[in-house]
This record gives sequence, structure tokens and C-alpha cells, in this order.
Amino acid sequence: MAAGDWPPFAPLPPTYYLLLPTAPMLFDCHTHLTDPAFAGDLDAVLARARAAGVRWMVTNGTDGPTNRAALALAATHPEILPALGIYPVDAVANEVLASGPTLPWTQAPCDVAAELAFIDAHASAAVAIGECGLDGHWVATHLDRQREVFAALIDLALRHDRPLIVHSRRAEAEAVEMLLARGATRVDLHCFSGRFKLAQRACAAGFYCSIPATLPHHELFQKMARDLPLTSLLTETDAPYLAPVRGERNEPAHVAATVAAIAELRHLPVDEVEATLEANFCRLFRIDPPPERGR
Ligand SMILES: [Zn+2]
Repeated sequence: MAAGDWPPFAPLPPTYYLLLPTAPMLFDCHTHLTDPAFAGDLDAVLARARAAGVRWMVTNGTDGPTNRAALALAATHPEILPALGIYPVDAVANEVLASGPTLPWTQAPCDVAAELAFIDAHASAAVAIGECGLDGHWVATHLDRQREVFAALIDLALRHDRPLIVHSRRAEAEAVEMLLARGATRVDLHCFSGRFKLAQRACAAGFYCSIPATLPHHELFQKMARDLPLTSLLTETDAPYLAPVRGERNEPAHVAATVAAIAELRHLPVDEVEATLEANFCRLFRIDPPPERGR
């Protein structure tokens, strides 16, 4: 599609909030609602999210088709916010395809240069740049090319003044260093699995860490949820992946249980945690909070 098919991202009109309850809004800052896993019942998934108090879902593109799908879905659903990105495996799709069957899934080709140009042309319609980053797990042999694409996306985000949603599997320290070296400060480290001290350092630099719904099964996520500054935390699902029950499909409604778990770990009232997380989300993504809370 041509540039300009989607309007620039803008906060919702104040009338939208008249429909909302006065309790703080929950959010899922990293999800993939354009995944085929949701093709049959997305309306029901969104209804469950709404019933659980989830008012914002940032759906992340990972390649050409999902970036376009994210923009199209967000255009018809005010609660869905689009992020545009190139997943690190897609960033090296052509190299992966040339090197044989190295992945447990069938990798589609990706015209990285064309996709960078598309994201550049449509960044104003996106709330963030992501998913992007480095992956030393699936494609550890193609890190140089991953670095090039990640650097290009960081610079693109800075140019358009957009936050970054970052995947950093088995490359956490390098991803954080690259972000800091290039001057990125508006960053969400999604499903961060590096050292706790590195997460602390990233938070001290102004980054956020989004806690997945697998929190009950992961000591590191529990430590992050308990010991990182509450003002540095967000909630995510990575749906349909990373379900709290292994093998099931994940969905945005599950962030409610994550918020409750964070409150329990920190011995704080749930509504206090909800309010702080909502403020974090609005600050990072520059979303106007409902007028009655006015943060
Ligand atoms: Zn993801």
C-alpha cells in the first residue's frame, strides 16, 4: 500500500473515555493480534480483554505482511495500537533460507530494505517501532546482519521520535549497549531474560521492562517484578505466544493476572500498582491518560 493510507497516530478523542470505567486501564504493550491464531475469534479475544479491564493493546509487526496487518487492524479498533518492526529472525530471513532448514518453522523471505522504507514511510501512523532487536538463540550465526537491521530501526525510531519495543534473546547485553550507544532512551525491553543487574542498569537509563504472563513460572520475572522500580515496569503477553499455561494460546486478558501478581510480590494494593503501570504506559507511548486522572 502507498504511504499515507493510514492516518498519523493520535490519542483518542476525550469522548472515548466517557465509555470507560474510572478504574485504571490495564494494557498489553507487546502482543501479536494479527497472528493467524486469532483469525477465527478476535472479537471474542478483544471482548475478554475489555472485560478484564484491558484498554490498550500494542500489536507488533514482525515483517511485511504483519506490519500492514497491524496498521489495518488498528484502523478499525481504537483499543489496538500498531507497532511496526522487523523481527531479528526476519531481518536475516534470506540468509537463513540460504543456509538450509535451521529453524523449527518455515521462514518466509523478507525484503529488508523495502520493509525499512515502508516503516520509515508509515512511522507516524505507529505508536512504536517493534518488534525489533537481536536474537542469539534461533539465528546466532547471523548476528552481524541482525546488528545492521537493528541499528537502522533504532535510528529510524529516533528520527521519528518513537519508542522501541525490543526483543533481545541471548543477546541482552549487546542489545542494551547498542540502544544506549545510539542514544535511544524510550525503550521497552520485552520478555527480558538477561542478568538482573543489566535490567537495573537499563531501567536507570530510563528503559522499561514489560513483564510477561509467564511470571508465575519464572524466577527472574518475579525478581524483576518485585525489585525493579515500579515506575520502570509494564505488562505484556506476546500473545499468542508465552501463555501462562504451556501449550495454550495466550491472549491480552492475561495481563490482569500479571498485575495482581506484581501487587502481591510488592505487597502493594492492586489499584496502586494499576495506576503506576498505567502512568508508565502513557509516559512511554505518549498516550493521553483519561482526563479524570490527568497524569
Ligand atoms: Zn513478540
